Amino acid sequence: MSFCVNVDKPTKRATIHTFISSDPRCQPQDKQAQDGDWLGPIDTKQEAIEAAEEAGLNVHLCGLCNP
Ligand SMILES: [Zn+2]
Repeated sequence: MSFCVNVDKPTKRATIHTFISSDPRCQPQDKQAQDGDWLGPIDTKQEAIEAAEEAGLNVHLCGLCNP
C-alpha cells in the first residue's frame, strides 16, 4: 500500500491518505489547488509522516480512507 500527503499551505496542515482510495478527495488532483500541494506516492505511512514533519507541517490522518 502506498500513501500520499495533502498539504494545506496556509494552515501548515498535512493530511496522510492511502494512495489507492475510491474517494477522489483522497487522491492527487490533476489541477493543483492554489494553496495546496501533494507529496507522494510514498511507500510507508511512517515515511509519509516523517516527510510531512520534516517540512514543518502538522500531521493528521485522513478520516475517510483511514491510512
Ligand atoms: Zn483520505
